[in-house]
Amino acid sequence: MTTLLRRWAAIIAAVLLAGALGASPASALDDGGAINAAYQRLGGSAGRLGNPIDAGRCGLKDDGCVRHYQGGSIHFSRASGAHATWGGIEARWAGLGWETGHLGYAVGGERCGLRGGGCYQDFQGGKVYWSPALGTNPVWGAIGAYWASYGWENGPFGYPTSAEVCAARCTQSFWGGQITWNPNAPMSYSLWDWNPLVAVNKRRPLSPLTYAPPSLVWVGTQQMRADAAGALRKMISDAAAAGVPITTVSGYRSYSDQAALYGSYVARYGQAYADTISARPGFSEHQTGLAMDIGNPGAPCGLQACFRDTPAGRFAAANAWRYGFIVRYPDGFQGITGYTFEPWHLRYVGTNAAAQMRSWGVPTLEQYFLMAAAPGY
Ligand SMILES: [Zn+2]
Repeated sequence: MTTLLRRWAAIIAAVLLAGALGASPASALDDGGAINAAYQRLGGSAGRLGNPIDAGRCGLKDDGCVRHYQGGSIHFSRASGAHATWGGIEARWAGLGWETGHLGYAVGGERCGLRGGGCYQDFQGGKVYWSPALGTNPVWGAIGAYWASYGWENGPFGYPTSAEVCAARCTQSFWGGQITWNPNAPMSYSLWDWNPLVAVNKRRPLSPLTYAPPSLVWVGTQQMRADAAGALRKMISDAAAAGVPITTVSGYRSYSDQAALYGSYVARYGQAYADTISARPGFSEHQTGLAMDIGNPGAPCGLQACFRDTPAGRFAAANAWRYGFIVRYPDGFQGITGYTFEPWHLRYVGTNAAAQMRSWGVPTLEQYFLMAAAPGY
């Protein structure tokens, strides 16, 4: 009796196993399978992929399957779904080991229309970016997350220009600078010396906190980075020629200068109010060497909102962009910038960015970089 039951059990198990095997092999490659469905969604043979050039095969990592087409390929795995890859992004993915490399499988299709005509694609382990000017490179992990917090490719770093390179620490180069991840230290970055697009606010301190700019030159009684100083001198001389004298009130301030200034405001007003009118040391734009507080001779409305209605304030509001400056803390944007209206505080971002912000109608650097707002620390 026991033997008979065992024999029946074995037969039933064999039937079930055969049924399971019959249902699963190569289903992703069937006409009704995930790969063909993705192919049809992309327009079939009339789409970018064109005609199939093989019948496909399975047995890839995580029981994945692939089929190749004239214009690219579609990979499938149960975890990632079926997604097409092609062109430069596929070539970079291939160079990084296809699905067996750090990136794993694609988890979405290529998405284009990024700033500067770029495209990207999401993978299990990161993203791959392509731009016409800067080629194709991946981002992932801690460096990718840090880069993202500065507005992805829209921010001061722009598109990646290399993959991450790791030894004791990891470094990755971008259009605007490099980001370093060190297991024993906070994330850090350095922008290339020519890049004036640094983003500094209450959520994004200088890197390192005690950063000092590479070169400082005098403009009137104050110092600035050379590129910003040249632009400001031109603005001041053009303004003077138009009958509007402009003075320099406060330019570069070192970490220790800022510590003293902020400390004096805290002592006088308390920290809550001090934080609305002065940056903590390591968080001030003045420490970048790219900011200047301007004034009128005789200082009417100096460092006050009514500066807007003085000759220097009116000239700056109308013309600063032509020289590569923005009024960094515009009226009504404290929830984004973290600061009340400062019509006297000019920040050099270069003529391209200043003109773009003006023509796009984007008043703050946070919005221009598509970064999260920084209303407080
Ligand atoms: Zn200022």
